[in-house]
Amino acid sequence: MHTKVAIIGSGPAGLTAALYAARANLEPLVIRGLQPGGLITTTNEVENYPGFVESIGGFELADTMERQAVKFGAQTYDAIITHVDLLQRPFTLMTDGGETITADALIVATGASPRKMGVPGEDVLANRGVSYCATCDGFFFRNKRVVVVGGGDSALEEGLFLTRYVSELVLVHRRDTLRASAIMQERAFANPKMRFVWDNVVEEVLGEERVTGVRIRNLKTDEVTTLETDGVFPYIGHVPNSQLFADVLDMDASGYIITDERRRTNIPGVFAAGDVVDHIYRQAITAAGEGCQAAMEATWFLAEQEYLLKKTETAQGQEVAVVVAPDNWS
Ligand code: NAP
Repeated sequence: MHTKVAIIGSGPAGLTAALYAARANLEPLVIRGLQPGGLITTTNEVENYPGFVESIGGFELADTMERQAVKFGAQTYDAIITHVDLLQRPFTLMTDGGETITADALIVATGASPRKMGVPGEDVLANRGVSYCATCDGFFFRNKRVVVVGGGDSALEEGLFLTRYVSELVLVHRRDTLRASAIMQERAFANPKMRFVWDNVVEEVLGEERVTGVRIRNLKTDEVTTLETDGVFPYIGHVPNSQLFADVLDMDASGYIITDERRRTNIPGVFAAGDVVDHIYRQAITAAGEGCQAAMEATWFLAEQEYLLKKTETAQGQEVAVVVAPDNWS
């Protein structure tokens, strides 16, 4: 299978890239990956995406973006990319189903995954009380007690969502001030079901068949206590999904792909956008903006390649690289 532009990832960055590339008549191929729609689909309500006065569900937002891109000619493909060869063009992508996709340009929009606490019991009790998705699993904790870990917007937003179901919610945070935005803090402090345990980290998730509690340690006093609970929801940040490109794309120490201000990676023709690049803003709207930039750059890159291929004359025996925007660019 060959495509002019392959986009790996189908969150706001990938789908916005698809929209713009489709409108440039490039018929991009969006490889939807492990989590179609991306991380935003695990958010119950998105209140800060411009254009939606009454807020919009995360799943609905991603679904709308995908339908909009498809309307203009983007194609979607349900596969996971397991291997890439970016050292020669066209680039080669191998899927988990054994297919080979070649692409003249590539946009990496693989996003990020929830960071794990990395403590005993967390993996063993995953889906048996440990969950990273309140929207998906909140319903199963009706009238139960849960612990939410973290002090950012995700912890508070998803915690507030959980209070619709649970009898009690304890938020365990490693400091005594929250990182979350003022509006989320106001809502959390006003919620009668939310209790805060400051300066503590989870050291172990307890339970045999299901979660029964967490062992926590106070970072100021070193005191270790046990909180009885039926569920644990860690919201302690994210790690970029960039492992696939570990040997080939430049990354920072945390694994975020490095691009210039035009979303170009160290390999010409490979662009990157969204949470796999951005460790500062990490918003749906900024991811969408970067996806737009990546698609415009990919369009210009392909136009330039076409120009170079057609150009037979060279200046003093040297190929001359001239960046041209397509005539029909708008
Ligand atoms: P975040 O802002 O990075 O917050 C992560 C939280 O986890 C912090 O409170 C951090 O503590 C804590 N933490 C990190 N590592 C930890 C560890 N090993 N053990 C215990 N605690 C740990 O991540 P996020 O809340 O997922 O938000 C990510 C981005 O998305 C942010 O830019 C946020 O504004 C945005 N977001 C926005 C909305 C919204 O606007 N509606 C909703 C969700 C997310 P410290 O505070 O001590 O560092």
